[in-house]
Amino acid sequence: MHFDVIIAGCGPTGAMLAAELRLHDVRVLVLEKETEPPSYVRIVGLHIRSIELMAMRGLLERILERGRRRPAGAYFAAIDKPAPEGLDSAYAYLLGIPQPVIVHLLEEHAVELGAQIRHGCAVVGFAQDDDGVTVELADGERLRSRYLVGCDGARSTVRKLLGVGFPGEPSRNETLMGEMAVGAPQDEIAAKVSELRETDRRFSLAPAGVGVYRVVVPAAGVSDRGAPPTLEDFRRQLSAVAGTDFGVHSPRWLSRFGDATRLAERYRVGRVLLAGDAAHIHPPIGGQGLNLGVQDAVNLGWKLAAQVRGWAPETLLDTYHAERHPVAEDVLDNTRAQMELLSAEPGPRAVRRLLTELMDFEEVNRHLLEKITAIGIRYDFGAGPDLLGRRLPDIDLKEGRLYGLLRRGRGLLLDRTGRLTVGGWSDRVDHLADPTAALDAPCVLLRPDGHVAWIGDEQRDLDDHLSRWFGRPTT
Ligand SMILES: Cc1cc2nc3c(=O)[nH]c(=O)nc-3n(C[C@H](O)[C@H](O)[C@H](O)COP(=O)(O)OP(=O)(O)OC[C@H]3O[C@@H](n4cnc5c(N)ncnc54)[C@H](O)[C@@H]3O)c2cc1C
Repeated sequence: MHFDVIIAGCGPTGAMLAAELRLHDVRVLVLEKETEPPSYVRIVGLHIRSIELMAMRGLLERILERGRRRPAGAYFAAIDKPAPEGLDSAYAYLLGIPQPVIVHLLEEHAVELGAQIRHGCAVVGFAQDDDGVTVELADGERLRSRYLVGCDGARSTVRKLLGVGFPGEPSRNETLMGEMAVGAPQDEIAAKVSELRETDRRFSLAPAGVGVYRVVVPAAGVSDRGAPPTLEDFRRQLSAVAGTDFGVHSPRWLSRFGDATRLAERYRVGRVLLAGDAAHIHPPIGGQGLNLGVQDAVNLGWKLAAQVRGWAPETLLDTYHAERHPVAEDVLDNTRAQMELLSAEPGPRAVRRLLTELMDFEEVNRHLLEKITAIGIRYDFGAGPDLLGRRLPDIDLKEGRLYGLLRRGRGLLLDRTGRLTVGGWSDRVDHLADPTAALDAPCVLLRPDGHVAWIGDEQRDLDDHLSRWFGRPTT
C-alpha cells in the first residue's frame, strides 16, 4: 500500500483536501488529468466562510496578495443591497480572484505540506476491497491506496464508476462567456448594456482590460452543446439579444456553461468518497460552487485522516455525508430560487421587486447573506445552545486570535474556567485556558474545521464528547 489516500482531480476541492490530509501526515497522491490550467479564466468570489478557512490555515495573506476585496453584499440574485451592519466575522468581504490563481495557491500549499501531485494522469477505473482501492490510470498503471476521493468535477468518472445516482434537473439555460476586443465606442456599449440589463440579467459586457470586455450572453440559439463556442457564436447571440455584435474580435478565451442542478445520492460508498462538483452541481449564480467544494474538503479532511490514523470513532467518516449533503441541498435550492428571480417574465419580476423590498428588513438581508457566505451553517449535533454546531468567528484571545491556533488542523478546547483538561486526547486536541476569551459560554470544544462540538463546564461531559469526536484516549 503506497498511499493512504488517492485524490482524483486537482481542482480547488482536490488541492484543499490534499493539504488538509497532509496536516495529519496522511500519505496522499493527487492525480490530475490535465497538464495545463484551463484556457478560460473564471474570476470567482471567495465568500466569508471560505476566507475564514484560508485564515485558519494560514493561507489568507498569499491569497489577498493576488485577489481583490469587494463588499460582501449584493450577491443574492444580484439584488443590489449592501450587506447588513455588524456581520459576525473579522473577514466580512468578498475576495475576487481568478480560479486558476486560487487553484495554483492551494496546490502550492498542498505540495509544501508534502502532498504528491501528478499531472497528466487520468483515473479511468478502480476496484475496492476490504483493505483498500486499486486505482487504474489511462496509461494502464495501477496504484493502491486505502481510500479514494473523487474530486474530479461535474462529469466525475469516480461518481459514474461508483454507480451513485446524480438526480436533479438537466441544463435548461446555456450561457456563453468570453473575453474579447470590442470595436464599438465605450459610451455606446454602456448605454446598450444598461438598457438591456433592465430586462435581461443574464446579459453583460464588462471592461476586462484596455479595449477588452468580458461578454456574457445567453446561448439559446447555439445548437451543438458538445463543441467549444466560436467567436461567430458570440457575434450571432449578441446580435440576437442586443441588435448589434459590438464589433467583437480577437478573443482571449471563449467558454460556455449551463444551469444543470444535481446532487449525488451518497457521498461515500465504502472506501470511495465524493467531494466538490463531483458531488453537486448548480448554476454559478451567487458564486458558491468553489466555496462549497473547499468547505467539503475541510469537513472531510480531518475525518478521513482520523480513519487512516486509526483513531476515528466508528461513525465519524459517515458524518461527512450527514453534514455536507444537506448543506449542498440548501445551496442547490437557493440557486434554483435565484435563477427564477433572474427571469424576465412578469411573475418572477414581481417576486424580485417584492424580495428587493423585503431585503430592506435587516433580518431578511442577513439571512440571505449568511446563506450565500456559508457563515449561517449549523450542523445538527443534537439538542443544545444555538452555538452548538456553528463555526466560531475569529475571536480575540490572550494569545492573539483564535484562527492562529487552528493552523495545524487539531481540535481545541477553549476553557474559560481553567478547570478542565483534554487528558488522553492531548495528541489530537489542544487546550487553551483563557478566562478573557470573548465567548458566551464557559468552555467550548472546537473540531479541526472550527465548528463547535461541545459547550459546557463539566469534565465528565467533556470526556464523553472528546470520545464522540476524537475516539479513544491514549493511555
Ligand atoms: C462561469 C462560472 C463562474 C463561477 N463562479 C464561481 C464563484 O464566483 N464562486 C464559486 O465558489 N464558484 C464559482 N463557480 C463554480 C466553480 O468554478 C466550481 O464549483 C469549482 O471549479 C469546483 O471545484 P472542483 O475542484 O470540485 O471541480 P473542478 O474545478 O471541476 O476540478 C476537477 C478537476 O478534476 C480533473 N479531472 C476530471 N476528471 C478526472 C479524472 N478522471 N482523473 C483525474 N483528474 C480528473 C479536472 O481536470 C479538474 O482539474 C463558477 C462556475 C462557472 C461556470
